Amino acid sequence: MNDAAAPLLSVEEARARVLSLASPLPSEWVPLEAALGRALADDVTAQRTLPPWDNSAMDGYAVRSADLAAPPPVRLAVVETVYAGAAPKREVGPGTCARIMTGAPLPAGADAVVMRERTRPVPDGGVDRVDILEPVGPGNFVRPRGEDAREGQVLLPRGTPLGIPELGLLWAQGLASVAVPRAPRVALLSTGDELCRADEAPQGRIVDTNAPSLALAVRRAGGVPTLLGIARDTRDSVEAALSRVDGFDVVLTSAGVSVGERDYVKEVLAALGVEQHFWRVAIKPGKPLLVGRRAGTLFFGLPGNPTSSLVTFELFVRPALRRLLGLADVEPGRVPGRLDGRLSKPAGLAHFVRVTAAWREGGLWARPLSTQTSGVLRSAAAATHLLHFPREANSLAHGDPVELLPLSWVA
Ligand code: AMP
Ligand code: MG
Repeated sequence: MNDAAAPLLSVEEARARVLSLASPLPSEWVPLEAALGRALADDVTAQRTLPPWDNSAMDGYAVRSADLAAPPPVRLAVVETVYAGAAPKREVGPGTCARIMTGAPLPAGADAVVMRERTRPVPDGGVDRVDILEPVGPGNFVRPRGEDAREGQVLLPRGTPLGIPELGLLWAQGLASVAVPRAPRVALLSTGDELCRADEAPQGRIVDTNAPSLALAVRRAGGVPTLLGIARDTRDSVEAALSRVDGFDVVLTSAGVSVGERDYVKEVLAALGVEQHFWRVAIKPGKPLLVGRRAGTLFFGLPGNPTSSLVTFELFVRPALRRLLGLADVEPGRVPGRLDGRLSKPAGLAHFVRVTAAWREGGLWARPLSTQTSGVLRSAAAATHLLHFPREANSLAHGDPVELLPLSWVA
């Protein structure tokens, strides 16, 4: 690709291209308790019908709703008490009812439940008669058989993210493990002569914060990070590091991908046979973003500025990791908000403004952080969302509706 002619892609186009390069990884079986946040590799079919019988949603009385047509109160004879975990022994015939606890099976003959609060004991009637104070229709407070799951039917489709209730549904089916696409293995490489490790004395250098930060972002997104260390700004050093990435699904480099004289990432990747799919995106921060692929490995050359690397991670890498994880929903989240402040910029690049958003007066108000320079981490600290300031827009006024992307970085 001729660099000067490299197209400046829109963020949406760039993300679509990234996602077209990624597909769910081969699956593995994991115990249910380890599957939180993963996606189902296949449809899961119910083996059990749940609940297995019609049962009561309330503590009260199981009745025949037709008996309650007369003006209340209607006096019924109580044939038995059905507790949760016990089977009813008696049928509920006309003029009778059964005392019933939440979760207990509905006795034969009954078609509805009246909650205890809508009944009154019969004075001196003992426990075997009750006054029902309101009419109810059939099915009232009855949880029907099969409401949660029906044997033979798809319980949860492939791609379903496994949250806590979904795992509960699988436990109720008696399953102990589930097939999910395996977690992506992600290699991280920092590049730059100025960098030192966090555990070294800087002595005129700057601490490599990108690799450990991105490693946390990878882990939070469900990937397994491996730090490859720091490559120096020479072709040999970058090439040596990038020659050791066999077996990784994703390689993230930071810095050295712009037009600086010692920016070697791009040419080294080309020399190593990585097919470059695009290089620059019409966004700020994060314009110099390189995306390539070789066999089963995706390469992202992220910008070096700490905030830029985090923003591009959020906009492109995280969606790709989610696609590899087989999650159905991979796009960054979006919520409507309103601008608390004013913003202006030239047309041409979409800006992703770091904001702190809080609920106030019925809306989510987004206040831009006072520092927006991508070279410092302070412009990301305390941010809760990215505000999407569209490519062709020039200004946004106080109170304007805006699109907010919740950040995965936040504590
Ligand atoms: P570059 O893309 O090489 O021009 O780097 C852009 C800016 O990001 C420079 O100020 C670098 O010092 C800084 N930078 C690059 N890599 C890192 C890193 N791993 N951690 C923190 N800052 C970095
Ligand atoms: Mg550099």
